[in-house]
Amino acid sequence: MRNDFLPFHVPEIGQEEISSVVETLRSGWITTGPKVKQFEEDFKHAIGAKNAVAVNSGTAALHLALEAVGIGENDEVIVPTMTFAATAEAVVYCRATPLLVDCSPENSNIDPSQVERAISAKTRAIIPVHFGGQPCDMGPIMELARTHKLAVIEDAAHALPSRYHQRMVGTIGDITCFSFYATKTLATGEGGMITTDSDEHAERMRLLSLHGIGRDSWTRSNQHDSWQYEIERPGYKYNMTDIAAALGIEQLKKCHLFWEKRQWIAKMYEEGFENIPEIRTPSVAEGDQHSWHLYVIQLELDRLRISRDEFVDLLRQANIGTSVHFMPLHLHRFYRETCGHRPEDFPKATALFERIVSLPIYPKMTESDVQDVIDAVTRALEAHRR
Ligand SMILES: *Cc1c(COP(=O)(O)O)cnc(C)c1O
Repeated sequence: MRNDFLPFHVPEIGQEEISSVVETLRSGWITTGPKVKQFEEDFKHAIGAKNAVAVNSGTAALHLALEAVGIGENDEVIVPTMTFAATAEAVVYCRATPLLVDCSPENSNIDPSQVERAISAKTRAIIPVHFGGQPCDMGPIMELARTHKLAVIEDAAHALPSRYHQRMVGTIGDITCFSFYATKTLATGEGGMITTDSDEHAERMRLLSLHGIGRDSWTRSNQHDSWQYEIERPGYKYNMTDIAAALGIEQLKKCHLFWEKRQWIAKMYEEGFENIPEIRTPSVAEGDQHSWHLYVIQLELDRLRISRDEFVDLLRQANIGTSVHFMPLHLHRFYRETCGHRPEDFPKATALFERIVSLPIYPKMTESDVQDVIDAVTRALEAHRR
């Protein structure tokens, strides 16, 4: 057993990030300014999107995206139940109703056939979540959206860098939302980015991200009276700081390198668990790219004498940190009580929740760290076989 505890996640912050932040601190400009502009430019080139708008969280990104496509009262937005709080919460911000949908039979992503069944006359948008970094089956989702005239807002909080049928996530739906929260594949502490090919959506989200103040309109006409501004409509306080952007610019340069490291860890796990029938490892469809933000294994509980929680405890005793992503929304009190959801309403997500465990996967891990995880998992399962 390892002597020290292996945390579930540690962000990879190098000297480049530290120097970049210090330079910004010394520059005299610490809130939204030249670094944010540069980060947006770098990001849109990395993704291949026409526009990128930086914000202060992935949640803010989702909220602005929904506002941009005009979601409001009496509208319904389709959201997977297997996701983080933010996805549905952003819909509630707009006074609209999140309609939960179950997982596909293959993985934790939203099931397109169930999306089709959930569409009503009130439905205005779909938010597919690329769970763990595995791209959703976007083909059928985009087709449904076209047929029913729905907006597609992708929650890509886990999906940097992911590809669906070779295509970069961030260039597929109408608007894509990324998160740079501390544990994500690109981390600025808190932060987010929105990509879209629509100039109109981008302009609207940019306006709303800072109090609805039309910066461009007054800077163009009042070059010398720079105190002047005009509120075009009430917006939000969602702008990214130059401090966060300074971190993001350097993290983005390493994004591919980080991905290669996670890919290597995923491969080691895949090979290490090959002959263990008690777990199912994630699989990636041909032509797709998994970002490997999360490495989620499924326990074959029928073959085991322990529950998922007991398995997590055994790993903690072996000094291995793990996590569970996620408890589906329909099992949380708010959605239970306001929507009257029961566990059996979403049988796939409910069953999946009982058996999922996220293993550590981040660039700071060494080969022996990965081997320690494989050994601890193997030992825990072998000792509790049925
Ligand atoms: C992290 C996350 C978000 C929100 O991101 P924040 O930057 O923390 O606001 C949204 N959706 C999913 C699936 C997430 O995991």
